[in-house]
Amino acid sequence: MIDRRTRPHCWGISHRIDMKVLALLIVLGVYAVAAKQSFHGHRLVSVIAKNKEQLNVLNGILRTGEPWVDVWSFSGINRTSEIRVPPSSYGLFSRLMRTAKIPITIMENDIEMLLERARQPSLGPHEQASPYISWSGGYTTHTAYKRYQSFVDIMDGLKSSFPNLVQEVGNLSPQTYEGRNIAYIKFGTGGSKPAIFIESLIHAREWISGGSIMYFMDRLVSRYSLDADARYMLDNYDIYVVPVSNPDGYEYTHTNNRLWRKNRSQQQGNCRGVDLNRNFEAYWNTVGVSNQCSSDIYCGNSVFSEAEAQAIRNKVAEINSGGQTLLAYLAVHSYSQLLLTPYSYANVRPENAVEVDNVARLMNDALKAPFGSNYQWGHGPDVLYPVSGASDDWAMLGGGARYVYTYELRPRSSNPGFSLGPEHIIPNGYEFWLSMVAMACNMNAGAPSC
Ligand SMILES: [Zn+2]
Repeated sequence: MIDRRTRPHCWGISHRIDMKVLALLIVLGVYAVAAKQSFHGHRLVSVIAKNKEQLNVLNGILRTGEPWVDVWSFSGINRTSEIRVPPSSYGLFSRLMRTAKIPITIMENDIEMLLERARQPSLGPHEQASPYISWSGGYTTHTAYKRYQSFVDIMDGLKSSFPNLVQEVGNLSPQTYEGRNIAYIKFGTGGSKPAIFIESLIHAREWISGGSIMYFMDRLVSRYSLDADARYMLDNYDIYVVPVSNPDGYEYTHTNNRLWRKNRSQQQGNCRGVDLNRNFEAYWNTVGVSNQCSSDIYCGNSVFSEAEAQAIRNKVAEINSGGQTLLAYLAVHSYSQLLLTPYSYANVRPENAVEVDNVARLMNDALKAPFGSNYQWGHGPDVLYPVSGASDDWAMLGGGARYVYTYELRPRSSNPGFSLGPEHIIPNGYEFWLSMVAMACNMNAGAPSC
């Protein structure tokens, strides 16, 4: 069964909001998050809105968001939304739900235990039996989630070890809010070829996306001399990768709060963080966003207000101004196992939707092949809800990319959700690898087919 009901990174909401709910939430106030946050006693609950009034109540919760509750996935009428509720908020939350006649299903009583359990291996027997899982022929290992500095060191190492396959390792401009460099790598064999641009970890807590991308990068160069697929990709494309697009947020998930999503820029008062995937110039601040900093879908106080979003915009502009064709743009997130096609902002399709969809179908088939993982592909707002200011729409509207896809990688559901164990890096990375091969082989790039 394919779960159509969750979409953690791109929840959409209407602009309508139940003002009574909002007032209640404002009364609750905003408090600072302590260092190294524990999630003991935090519940993971699921709720389903059966009508528009109930949906408005859930919308109100989403738009106020952290720290009183944390919406892990949000969806429409008759679909499941999943919310982390701290113990201090549970009384108010349950009263709100009771008043709105929305039943609560408790999926997990202690999210710290969920995070703890994620440290135990959880691959299925099919995956455990697969020879792909023992793959160890690469430049680095893929058995643990890496810190940001490791990503940087490994990219430098790939350049030193494979100088004919890595053209550049450098930093985007500007730096992050906290003064970190945002590292990128350009794979290629020389000359100017159609470009593929991959962005991941723009949402800090989606660790599996960075792990899978690292596996992809490693495999691309480690297997070049052995693997026709790797050769095909590198002989026909230049591949730019920004594996950690939000380094401040990503480090914060390692040091302070495992479930942090946004960047770390200072906003009103003590409030920190903008949802970078709502900050791009693509019908910015029109749908599926919040204007409150406390929300995890806060779109910022102006379009491209955030350094990290500017940095991606500037790199894509540089590629375009260099005369290179930006053929494809991938935004890699987790979780829910979805492959989403543009546009995200509304029920509107690009003029080349047929070819975009044909390639998506082939990518999805390739992704499922090794382990039978259930992914769903489709147009974002059809699968769920519209959102504005997302990088995928901007890549097509402003960046000129012809093929644009948003991945939501493993797992399918909120248990384990963001706390997916690192033993999934290789199988999920391999699934991603196969789908990228399918994309590269089937885009109309003027390249000979695979
Ligand atoms: Zn995301």
